[in-house]
Amino acid sequence: MNSCYKVRACCSTRDCDYVQHKDIIRTINHESSFSFAMWMNGLDDLQATTTCPRCGSRLFYYPVTYMAETGYGE
Ligand SMILES: [Zn+2]
Repeated sequence: MNSCYKVRACCSTRDCDYVQHKDIIRTINHESSFSFAMWMNGLDDLQATTTCPRCGSRLFYYPVTYMAETGYGE
C-alpha cells in the first residue's frame, strides 16, 4: 500500500476561527515531513513567511501521513 506524506499548517492561536488546515508540501517520507515541519516551526518571526489570514499569527506546521485508498486509480 502506498502512503502519501505531507506537511500541513494550521493557526497556532487557540481562539482563532481559522480552522482550515492547509497542505504546504508533499514529501517522500515521514522523516522528510517531520524535518520540514520542525524547520518551519523553528524559523523566527522575521523569517516566517506564512501567517494566519484571520489573525496574523504564525502558523503551526505538522507532518501528516495518508494511506492511499484501496483501489484508487483503477
Ligand atoms: Zn489565526
